[in-house]
Amino acid sequence: MNPRIYFDHSATTPLDPRVLAAMGPFLGGAFGNPSSLHHEGRIAREAVETARAQVASLIGADPDEIIFTASGTEADNLALIGAVRASGRPGHIVTTSIEHAAILETCRFLAESGTKITHLPVDADGLVEHKSLLRALQSNVTLVSIMAANNVVGTLQPIEELAHLTKLHGVLFHTDAVQAAGKIPLDVNRLHVDLLSLSAHKLHGPKGVGALYVRKGVRLSPIVFGGGQERGLRSATENVAGIVGFGAAAAIAREELAGEATRLAQFRERIARELTRALPHSYLFGHPVQRLPGHLSFGLHGQEREVGKLLATLDAAGVAISAGSACSANHSGEPSGVLLAMGYDDEGARGLLRLSLGRFNTQQEADRFLEILPRAVATLNGAATHQQPLRSIDAVPGVLA
Ligand code: PLP
Repeated sequence: MNPRIYFDHSATTPLDPRVLAAMGPFLGGAFGNPSSLHHEGRIAREAVETARAQVASLIGADPDEIIFTASGTEADNLALIGAVRASGRPGHIVTTSIEHAAILETCRFLAESGTKITHLPVDADGLVEHKSLLRALQSNVTLVSIMAANNVVGTLQPIEELAHLTKLHGVLFHTDAVQAAGKIPLDVNRLHVDLLSLSAHKLHGPKGVGALYVRKGVRLSPIVFGGGQERGLRSATENVAGIVGFGAAAAIAREELAGEATRLAQFRERIARELTRALPHSYLFGHPVQRLPGHLSFGLHGQEREVGKLLATLDAAGVAISAGSACSANHSGEPSGVLLAMGYDDEGARGLLRLSLGRFNTQQEADRFLEILPRAVATLNGAATHQQPLRSIDAVPGVLA
């Protein structure tokens, strides 16, 4: 039986064995509390500070600008709630209509206490237009938060320009870089950002560890209270093994980023080319060029309501892909909020399929996927007249056989 094909790296990534090896000692004998002054504590502290430097280095930051959190979600919460609380006023947050729930739901929470929220529109490729940001900046704004890479369609925002515009108005700029980090080069100084969120499990690190970059001089209030760890911004005994894993994952990602980005982009282009050839009723979502290298989302005209069935058929055939965000309502067949914001109608916004490639994917897996997919699509209702004859291939295991 063929091993499974995992093409859902935007949901999460497998732990790199080198990361696991780095974490090992801190799940065993090296158990100290980094706040303890004795030998055991000092070993843990040293490991946490090494990891802080490794994470900082991935984004061109100083180590003391990195605050470890328990997730990318928590980093987003800390950035937004922390900035509003530090301002001492309900304030005004400008964000986009295609952010992850970690931003959108935090905004909803803040709105309940009087914070004004402006959602910037995006164009059909998922790009924020400068004009709409400029317009929003005419009023009194506390913080602008715009994601670096979209998790559903893979579009990259021009963060450098958007942040520059924002800074000209003296307003704080935050970017959720959870999907971008380790996949495209990020430098907080070149990008002019004040706050930037990261998550370890999206770059072959462990789950349950994130970080917020906080530029020196930026005032933030904590949202978790206690012993004052992480410069008072994130109380709690540090998740030492997780943080060590995050550091190792960041160091590997930094080292391998350029080669991997090229490899995954070529890989993606090949799949996109073959997919649109074999399935002429397919169409691609997101910006054609400004996009994550290993990310491909597509729809099947006339078969939008068959997405759930297609995912199940592929899963049974050994292929893991998704219908957009792992934590969105998409599993329930609801239209994707991101696609609605990009101007797709209700029907079109139901039909998203997402492939996200990663470090351990191979060309052989792409070949197998390109054999399995058209066969799986052929089992669906609708759009039959749009399809080209399928290539004659050997029987595929599972329900497709
Ligand atoms: N932001 C974006 C863009 C994401 O894609 C995700 C996870 O999917 C998050 C934030 C949340 O990160 P975490 O899973 O570490 O809470």
